[in-house]
Amino acid sequence: MQVPSAAIVAAHPDDEVIGAGGQLSRLRALTLLHVTDGAPRNMRDAAAGGFETRQAYARARRGELEQALALAGIAPQQTDRIGIADQEAAFHLAELALTLAERLDRICPDIVVTHPYEGGHPDHDSTAFAVHGACDLLKRRNGVSPAIVEMASYHMRDGTIAALEFLPNGDHDIVLLPLTDAQQCLKRRMIACFASQAAMLTRFPPDREPFRPAPTYDFRRPPHAGRLFYELFDWGMTGARWRALAGTALASLQSGRATCR
Ligand SMILES: [Zn+2]
Repeated sequence: MQVPSAAIVAAHPDDEVIGAGGQLSRLRALTLLHVTDGAPRNMRDAAAGGFETRQAYARARRGELEQALALAGIAPQQTDRIGIADQEAAFHLAELALTLAERLDRICPDIVVTHPYEGGHPDHDSTAFAVHGACDLLKRRNGVSPAIVEMASYHMRDGTIAALEFLPNGDHDIVLLPLTDAQQCLKRRMIACFASQAAMLTRFPPDREPFRPAPTYDFRRPPHAGRLFYELFDWGMTGARWRALAGTALASLQSGRATCR
């Protein structure tokens, strides 16, 4: 079977390594698209890392990404970025979907790999929304669109993080790709490049990578009952607020009023 050409659309620099690091060097004609620059407008994370400005923190995260990708033989030219501030993708949903549609139309990948909708991080859910929206637009416009494949991220389970596991959704088969010793070694070295994210990245097991075909989502409904993982943090975003933004963006996309970022 021929390896598919792929685009990975990730919310933050490091999500692609967490979810698919062991596969990056195997995918054909890979393009990586990052929705945010990984630097929140509030300076909490940046200041904790010793950065004086949001821009300096974003540059450091970009540098970490390029270092990690180089280990897998991926050149900076294979990456593209939308440049939204971290934690703010939800405020740009419709334009983000249109922008992704344009870029995916240019790249024409067989598959697009992205996050599941699961309430782990508002930028992850926003990225999932935009990829589904973009593929719907391409399907309507061209009659075809890339198949959406999900890489695992994280969500809330029993009051804590369930990392690199899917929130169950229908009977979509999960393909669990175990990583060889060499792949695990490479993935550990790639993860080590993200020094600014070291504490968070210890939560992800490096020995397996689950994938599944993306389910069809109703983004106006919560991904699961109870509190979402990102509601544990003081980020000014709740599930209810995110869903209201998603509802407005859907209406805007359906009416054709939305414009590109
Ligand atoms: Zn992320």
